[in-house]
Amino acid sequence: MARIAVGGFQHETNTFAPTKASFADFERAGAWPGLTRGAALFEAMAGLNVPFSGFMDEARALGHELVPLSWAQATPSAEVTEEAFERIVGQILADLAAARDLDGVYLDLHGAMVAEHLEDGEGETLRRVREVVGAALPVAVSLDLHANVTPDMVAHADRLVAYRTYPHVDMAATGARAARQLDALLSGEGGRQKAYRQLPFLIPVQAGCTLLEPAKSLYARLDGMEVGAVQSVSFMAGFGPADIWHCGPSVVAYGTEAAAVEAAAEELYDAACAKEADFDAPVWDAEAAVTHAIRYSVAAGRPVVLADSQDNPGGGADANTTGLLRELVRQGAEAAALALLWDPAAAELAHMAGEGAELRLALGGRSQVPGDAPLEATYRVERLGNGRFTGTGPFYKGARMDLGPMALLRLGGVRIVVASRKIQAADQAIFRHLGVEPATERILALKSSVHFRADFQPIAAEVLVVKAPGPNPLDHTELDYKRLRPGVRLMPNGPAFAPASRSARPR
Ligand SMILES: [Zn+2]
Repeated sequence: MARIAVGGFQHETNTFAPTKASFADFERAGAWPGLTRGAALFEAMAGLNVPFSGFMDEARALGHELVPLSWAQATPSAEVTEEAFERIVGQILADLAAARDLDGVYLDLHGAMVAEHLEDGEGETLRRVREVVGAALPVAVSLDLHANVTPDMVAHADRLVAYRTYPHVDMAATGARAARQLDALLSGEGGRQKAYRQLPFLIPVQAGCTLLEPAKSLYARLDGMEVGAVQSVSFMAGFGPADIWHCGPSVVAYGTEAAAVEAAAEELYDAACAKEADFDAPVWDAEAAVTHAIRYSVAAGRPVVLADSQDNPGGGADANTTGLLRELVRQGAEAAALALLWDPAAAELAHMAGEGAELRLALGGRSQVPGDAPLEATYRVERLGNGRFTGTGPFYKGARMDLGPMALLRLGGVRIVVASRKIQAADQAIFRHLGVEPATERILALKSSVHFRADFQPIAAEVLVVKAPGPNPLDHTELDYKRLRPGVRLMPNGPAFAPASRSARPR
């Protein structure tokens, strides 16, 4: 039996997004628990599709004792404030330093955290962890598939193990894999050889879905590569809207023999590069998508799903742009429902007005994106909710949602799910909380890029990725990058980044 310190600190930072992540954003519960410290972690995280939860179950099944640190996450957004980073990392390190007789450390990290004062949040966190525990103690880390992996992260961890599905239905399973890898390191079977490669192009988020090619077959290779001296292989698709030197996809491999580990990383790197041109997904403009959806959904008898990807809060957006909603109303869509629109003021006004009331509102439109504005109209308040419900789909399964006051507003044939906290519309329970049965709608407009597919693709006649004004561009060439490493291609087979002035490589 080993004593393993366990914690987590997750954030996916879109440096182009409108709002930063403050300490309060990490403290507050949303889809997942808020900042939790010490023994309370074990109950708070039980049974969730979160890496920490999977690690906890597997490590205990392997007979290990867990020493709780802290776990926190906030919805993707712009930079983590310096205060939030220092306080959360500070309490993780303080508890780590106070723990006695540790045999190993596990951290549940995302791998794309940028703080106000440093651009490699996880590299810095792991560097400080090493300062506390020393070079010899095994440190295992689970990562999101969208991690931007940096040399410091590779240097200071003995294992980086990433999700293999997008939608991320294997978050807990990845934590369990990290537990088995750490167990092997503790028993001496796990090798400490490592290899790392960065790909020379960015992958747009909609093209990384593992239900579709080429990601599907690329990820399908990984299990079979972990044989003999090669013990762990991960492919991270990266997170494009992050203006940092180490933005982009990468490969890591671990095991007992340097040559075998290098060869595995090279094989996966080559396989991914060979598919560069295929990392491309068709995108519809809002007008054409709505026209198609209205026509097609009637005959199909099942909903057409429109993914409002550029306002996906899972990519750091604020889930309040109105472009797609405006188009649905303008074209007279019937039996259409949209989720979820983050507008706490509108939710509060709806609760004050009550169910059945007519309410004049300027809804959403606060992301300061060119071409977007609040949608001023008279809405009918159809239903109110307290925002507390449980996720039922494969992605948010078991998540105890706490989204604050919620309201279902109607404008013409379109019903809008309004919430006081933002999460990705990746679970049918979001609709059902307000009495909407998604399967019987004709059109579902979802502020999500890919995660929605886990729960909505089975009921959808068709899924269209829609480009309406939003802060999370599907095309990276629309972003004003300044700090990428020179030469990296902004899109598959796209233009290479060339800094206007010499970009400063971070320390
Ligand atoms: Zn992700």
